[in-house]
Amino acid sequence: QAKSRGRNGYQFYAPDMDGEGVLRLRMEALLRRAIERGEIFLHYQPQVDIESGRLIGVEALVRWTNPELGSVSPVRFIPMAEETGFINQIGEWVLLEACRQMGRWDEAGLVVPKMAVNLSVRQVERGAMAPQVARVLAETSLAPHRLQLEVTESVIMNTGDALAFVHELHAMGVGLAIDDFGTGYSSLAYLKQLPVDVLKIDRSFIKDIALDSDDEAIAIAIIQLGKSMHLSVIAEGVETEEQAAFLLRHGCTRAQGYLYGRPVAPGELLQEWGQDERRNTVA
Ligand code: C2E
Ligand code: MG
Ligand code: MG
Ligand code: MG
Repeated sequence: QAKSRGRNGYQFYAPDMDGEGVLRLRMEALLRRAIERGEIFLHYQPQVDIESGRLIGVEALVRWTNPELGSVSPVRFIPMAEETGFINQIGEWVLLEACRQMGRWDEAGLVVPKMAVNLSVRQVERGAMAPQVARVLAETSLAPHRLQLEVTESVIMNTGDALAFVHELHAMGVGLAIDDFGTGYSSLAYLKQLPVDVLKIDRSFIKDIALDSDDEAIAIAIIQLGKSMHLSVIAEGVETEEQAAFLLRHGCTRAQGYLYGRPVAPGELLQEWGQDERRNTVA
């Protein structure tokens, strides 16, 4: 609308600045202050062993709630933060907070075996990520093997420094998961050189697993690949018992999804899993 009004002789914004553009700018400005204003927080989603139902870890998922905008999805604000570079501050805050939370649960009597934290390409390409991880582990006294960093295939493929970073992580004892696996373009030959621990089958393949034979074939291929490369495989976005049964039948024993639990606040995770007798059977 701003555009057409512009042609009529007046305009409030740059010619290509429509309502969406204005909202974007406003959102970017608000996002910059979000950490200091305490608007950023984490939810945690359980990862479980399908057969026993026991908790094998959680994934930290960042949340932003702003008085003006309400709650904004990370699908919206993470790409924005990546463009503005603000992702580095968010990412650093997320990593520290997630590792601290492990200590709080430990003290409360809930042992969450692993904390998975997402990293964006901007964080890795900056080259300061390995020292940051080491610093956070030291500061929070979290054992390195209890931290697992998640990167997508594109982070690995498009970042010059990724290889060095991945090897540094491995040397520290920190785990590495490839997120959204199957949606990117990583070559298997390349992947084979990397000390990767986990492949996460993308939710898009799980969704129609029992209905779409292509998705089914892809899921099975990823499970097989994991087996032959001695990696563990976690299925993302598992929502139904049918999907879980399919996965188990094909040798994938780990899952994350609404069937087992939505991302929740730390207190809620403690309530749901802290009383669970299965916690004592954690290997
Ligand atoms: P992701 O890392 O692949 O995270 C999984 C997403 O799937 C989460 O969305 C989660 O809430 C959602 N999900 C989990 N189980 C189910 C299910 O059964 N059904 C459906 N429909 N969805 C399910 P969320 O929290 O909206 O996060 C979206 C993406 O935003 C993440 O995808 C990740 O790429 C990014 N993200 C989230 N937190 C962070 C962060 O701290 N740092 C960075 N760099 N990216 C983050
Ligand atoms: Mg993830
Ligand atoms: Mg994913
Ligand atoms: Mg994703």
